[in-house]
Amino acid sequence: MPKNTKEVKYRKAATTPLKKFVRLKVYSTLSGKKEAIKPIKSNKINLFVCGPTVYDFSHLGHARTYIFFDSFVKYLRHMGFKVFYLQNITDVDDKIILRAKEKGVLPQDLALAFEKEHLKDMKLLLIDSVDKYARATDHIKEIINQIQRLLEKGYAYKINEGVYFDISKFKGYGKLSSRTILQAEDAVSRIDYSSSKHNRGDFCLWKLRERQEEPSWQSPFGSGRPGWHIEDTAITEKFFGAQYDIHGGSRDIIFPHHEAEIAQMESMSGKDPLAKYWLHTGFLTVDGQKMSKSLNNSVLISSFLERYSVQQLRFWVVKNLWRSPVDYSESAMFEVRSALDKVEEFLRKVSNILKQQEVKDKSKSIKKAISKARKDFYKNLSDDFNTPKAFAAVFNLIKSTNKFLDKNLVNKKDANEIYRLFEEIDKIFGIIDFKKIKHLSIPSEVEKLLDQREELRRNKEWEKADEVRKEIEKYRYTVQDSKNGPILKKI
Ligand SMILES: [Zn+2]
Repeated sequence: MPKNTKEVKYRKAATTPLKKFVRLKVYSTLSGKKEAIKPIKSNKINLFVCGPTVYDFSHLGHARTYIFFDSFVKYLRHMGFKVFYLQNITDVDDKIILRAKEKGVLPQDLALAFEKEHLKDMKLLLIDSVDKYARATDHIKEIINQIQRLLEKGYAYKINEGVYFDISKFKGYGKLSSRTILQAEDAVSRIDYSSSKHNRGDFCLWKLRERQEEPSWQSPFGSGRPGWHIEDTAITEKFFGAQYDIHGGSRDIIFPHHEAEIAQMESMSGKDPLAKYWLHTGFLTVDGQKMSKSLNNSVLISSFLERYSVQQLRFWVVKNLWRSPVDYSESAMFEVRSALDKVEEFLRKVSNILKQQEVKDKSKSIKKAISKARKDFYKNLSDDFNTPKAFAAVFNLIKSTNKFLDKNLVNKKDANEIYRLFEEIDKIFGIIDFKKIKHLSIPSEVEKLLDQREELRRNKEWEKADEVRKEIEKYRYTVQDSKNGPILKKI
C-alpha cells in the first residue's frame, strides 16, 4: 500500500519557537532509556496515539493519557516542531458488540454514540491538538490489504475462526515488552481465542462472522471483522508510511497491543523500527486501587467535571511525571486546588500592577528571577518532560516575587514578563483560568473609588478618604498605603 502523506497537513509552527531549548530528551519504552528526539524528516514529527474503544463513557484513565499527549504535542509545537498528531477510534470490537447486545441496539449505533461522547469530553478537557481521528471502520480496505500482505509473506495463516498472526515467524517479537514467545500465551484476549492456533500468543487479524448480528465486511478471507491490533498499523501506514516518529499510549497496552503492532508492520515492511520512540503514560489508581468495573470505582470525565474545573484536572495530571503512577483522591484534588489558587492570586496581583501607574523598580532581582524561572521551566521540560521540576521552578518564582508584589516593588515591564511566561505555560498545559483572573481583577467601580480616595488624600481630606475606603471594603477589598502608592488586597 503506497503511503498517502497527502492526508498529512502540518499546522503552522509556533511564531517564536524556542530553539535554544530544543534539545529534547524523552524516555522511550523501546530502548528503555532517555533518548534525544531526532525526527525522521527535518523538524516534522509524525505521532500516533491509541484512541478509545467506544463502548462506554470515557474515564480518568483516558483523561490522563490524552491530557499528557495534548500538553506534550503543544510543547513540541511551541518548540518549533511540526507535529501531525493522529489518533484512531476503535469502533468495531467485541466489547462494543457485547454492550450493544445488552442494550438491544446496533453495535455501529452504540459506537457512534460513544464516539460523540468521547469527543465531547475531549473538548471539555481543552484537548485540541489532535489533527485527525481515524475510525477503524473507515479503513477496512487498508486493513484487508495489510492482512493479504501478511498472508502472502507467510506471517499469517488461516484457520476456521479467521486469520491469525504467527508470532514465532517474527524475529523481533517481544522487543517492546521484553517477553518471549512462551510468555506471550496470555495474549489471548478479546477475539484472539482459538484452540487451533499455531502458538498460544498468536493474535487475530480477521475474525470470521459467527452470528448474523455481528458487524462484518466482505474480504478475500470471508465475511468478518478486523482484530484489534491491525487497525492501528493500517491507519498509520496510510498517513505516515511504514515508519514514523512517536507512538504513544498508556502502559497497559504495551502488551499485547503494541507488541502486535510492531510484529505486523515490521514483518510486512521489513523496516525496523515501526516507530522510533514509544511513550507510555503511567498507571492511574483511585484511592490507591486500580480503577475497575468490579470495584465500581471508575471516575467518568463528565462526573469529575461536575465537581472540579478542567484546569484542576489538567493540573493534577501534568504536575505528575507522565510515566509515573498517579493516584486520584479527594485530598490530591484539594492540594491541586490550593496550588492553583496560589497561581491565580499571584496573577491577579501581577495584573493589578499592569493596571497601575508606573512605579519605579527598586529591585533588579525580579528580572533575574523571571529569566531563571523561564530557563529552568523549559530546561526541565526538555529533560524527559519533567513537569514536577518545571512547575517547581514556577512556584519558586511565585514565592520569591510575592514579597516584592506585596511591597509594590515590581515594575510594569517585569509584571508583563511574568504574565507572558504564565500565558506560555497555559498555552502548553491549559491549567490557568485567565477569564477568572480577569473577572476577579479589580472591578472598575473599585478603581474609580481608589482614584477618588487618592485625590482626597492629596488634598488632606482624611475623613472623606476614610469613607471612600469603607466604600471600597463593600467590594471586599482593603487598601494598604505604601510609599509607592496604594495596594489593593482581596478580603
Ligand atoms: Zn491502538
